[in-house]
Amino acid sequence: MTAAFEVMREPAERGRFGDYGGRFVPESLVSACEELDRSFHKAWGDPHFRARLDSLLRYYGGRPTPVWECARLGDQLGIRLLLKREDLNHTGSHKLNNVIGQALLAEQMGKTRLVAETGAGQHGVATATAAALFGMECMVYMGAVDVERQELNVFRMRLLGAEVTAVESGSRTLKDAINEALRDWVATAATTHYCIGSVMGPHPYPFIVRELQRIVGEEARSQCREVLAGGDPDVVVCCVGGGSNAAGTFAGFVDTGARLVGVEAAGGAAMHNGVPGVVHGMRSMFLQDEDGQILEAESISAGLDYPGIGPEHAHLGKIGRAEYVDASDDEVLAAFRLLAETEGIIPALEPAHALAWVVREAGRSIPKGSAVLLTLSGRGDKDVALVMSRSARQPELDSEGRRP
Ligand SMILES: *Cc1c(COP(=O)(O)O)cnc(C)c1O
Repeated sequence: MTAAFEVMREPAERGRFGDYGGRFVPESLVSACEELDRSFHKAWGDPHFRARLDSLLRYYGGRPTPVWECARLGDQLGIRLLLKREDLNHTGSHKLNNVIGQALLAEQMGKTRLVAETGAGQHGVATATAAALFGMECMVYMGAVDVERQELNVFRMRLLGAEVTAVESGSRTLKDAINEALRDWVATAATTHYCIGSVMGPHPYPFIVRELQRIVGEEARSQCREVLAGGDPDVVVCCVGGGSNAAGTFAGFVDTGARLVGVEAAGGAAMHNGVPGVVHGMRSMFLQDEDGQILEAESISAGLDYPGIGPEHAHLGKIGRAEYVDASDDEVLAAFRLLAETEGIIPALEPAHALAWVVREAGRSIPKGSAVLLTLSGRGDKDVALVMSRSARQPELDSEGRRP
């Protein structure tokens, strides 16, 4: 196994994480990717850039977010359960860490326009927010099916001054929106930055987004040491769509003894049910049919509906440093209610996947008394209506927080 200190550092030549990653883009995007790579390295090593980013995340975004120990739920599960409260960021999730960083980078590169893809609309809203803050133009590509499903987020983006383009190609969902955003960028790279939403896409994006989310893991590590009297958690668990909140969190703990666990939606489990392929500019694991066509991911949480996973996760899974598991919609709904009822925190459905796994494994593969850090990637306001429509059909939880 690769030594821990070598894991989650700079990727190898052209963005390789072992067998995964890379940069598979049309000739016309190579120089834009190279410019971005150079600019990011320069900015990331520049104390002035870092100070501006820190200040924005602090005074605009609300960082640092606290770590909260769930005394009641921890007792019930027989473990110590610590939540990294990314739900308390402005716009309600960890996504702001990434888009503020990329917008600042775009400004330094002299770009005046941001393009982004979005599925459920969360990343689109975050990008539109950053564009408003920086006085930039913003174009968000969204599958036509998602535009219909998520009309509130479409309106939010328009309120924030962004233009939203409904993508009518392919299956008219997230994967098509990404293709369209890349197409826009090919034509406009001189003035436009493509603000990608997760640790995916061609090099250097998986690396940049992980570094911009690293703050989650670094803060959590020192906060855990306060709570755990100098110790590190035994288990670090995050939900995984593309994998950005997990990558940022894992980066803070990869050199500790913590067990790192990424939880995918059962209907979008690219690590379990996917095969290697090259899509969206990277080599990674994707849900594909026998002809290599990308399948639709499907889960109760639109934010985990990406049919692939970031290449660094594919690598961490392959070398055994992290494990990837999945949770079903029913388990997730139960976990959603459990956190609300025991801690007064309504989580987004995405991190409820991570909690569902903890509920399932506490006292099993998570020994009693273990300390578990869970990144609560977002708040649940956006999901309340969906859960309401489902709960008519859900039986109540038993006292163990499990479904009878
Ligand atoms: C978008 C989103 C996710 C999934 O994205 P990752 O890149 O896997 O982190 C998870 N949680 C919330 C709240 C989100 O909005």
